[in-house]
Amino acid sequence: MTEPAAVARVTRDITADLRAGELEAFYQDLHRHPELAFREHRTAGSLAGRLRAAGYEVTEGVARTGVVGVLEHGDGPVVWLRGDMDALPVREATGLPYASTVDGVMHACGHDLHVTWLAAAAEVLAAARDTWSGTLVVVGQPAEEAGGGAAAMVADGIHERFPRPDALFGQHAAPGLAGFYPHTPGLTLSASDDIDVVVHGVGGHGSRPESTVDPVVTGAYIVTRLQTVVAREIAAGESAVLTVGRFHAGTKSNIIPAEARLALNVRTQDGRVRERVLTAVRRIVEGECAAAGCPVPPEVTVLPGYPNTVNDAALDGEIAAVHRRLFGEHTVFDFGQAMGSEDFSLLAPEGVPYDYWYVTSTPAAVWEAAPGEELTEKVLNVPGNHSPLFAPDLSVLAPGVRTLVSAALARLGVTA
Ligand code: ZN
Ligand code: ZN
Repeated sequence: MTEPAAVARVTRDITADLRAGELEAFYQDLHRHPELAFREHRTAGSLAGRLRAAGYEVTEGVARTGVVGVLEHGDGPVVWLRGDMDALPVREATGLPYASTVDGVMHACGHDLHVTWLAAAAEVLAAARDTWSGTLVVVGQPAEEAGGGAAAMVADGIHERFPRPDALFGQHAAPGLAGFYPHTPGLTLSASDDIDVVVHGVGGHGSRPESTVDPVVTGAYIVTRLQTVVAREIAAGESAVLTVGRFHAGTKSNIIPAEARLALNVRTQDGRVRERVLTAVRRIVEGECAAAGCPVPPEVTVLPGYPNTVNDAALDGEIAAVHRRLFGEHTVFDFGQAMGSEDFSLLAPEGVPYDYWYVTSTPAAVWEAAPGEELTEKVLNVPGNHSPLFAPDLSVLAPGVRTLVSAALARLGVTA
């Protein structure tokens, strides 16, 4: 390991030639052409092209649209840098000159920034390979937005087909005045589970409910009683979120439908709390269906979810120290734990340390104009990730390259 001051100095040197105009052009091109999960063909092609030109051995089509670039340069550790590439089914409302050209699809989570940062960091580290020794693996991941892209890459053999990591790094654009680099040692993001529920009633005429078992009413009771899970079954000091995001039933006012379908999302930060919430959901759904006299028990399906993201505290401390040196003491602070979720940690083989931090990206003018005194109030009043108004400040382009370059150098060790 190299001293933070030395890592920061080399990072500054080798990123001095980063050109804002080029970064902006690449970012804006990605922003104009967003692609949904597992359809990131154009994005993956752009990333792969740049990696190949920089000297990486590039494999495309990992888990359909994933990209892996490998650059070996002497003995030393293997460092993985990961960026996710997918956009969201959101209709952009920013009015920016480089707004999405695809109707109903938008880079509303900043994954276009992630790809820009990753590509530029990979190029800088390749051009300056004589300053480090080891192996760099650059991972362009598909389908982070609840699409299971990381798990798909693991299933496609990313751990066997490429050099195994000794450390893994990722970062995410976040709301907050641009120019801060929040780091959290330990638990930083929550586990996420999706649950599909099907309530089987008995359909019939709206005028003769006595001949039916109404799944709309049963579903409504389920939605209401589910609100008691977090409020009444989880201790005050523990945390969980349970949201019913979808409730579909029926076609017409005078028809009682035969079934209702609900989709739930659960966020937890502790395995025991997670089990308790999932058990309570099952019990409530089954109990309400029994109470209503449903002829067939309901279906409750827990879909493959995302685990907690738990940064290695020592590694996070090391990288936070480097980022402080690079950007100033006050720019790095602990965001605390978020109820958001990520599948980044699935890319780390068991026991391999990883670190995941944030790059705040709200333009200064937007931040100043937002109501609120404290950071925690203001952050609720600026367009955040997944908002149709999410519009990161372009000033974060070069710094987000430096955060990745410096993290890689910190682990690879600076030789020059
Ligand atoms: Zn997102
Ligand atoms: Zn995201």
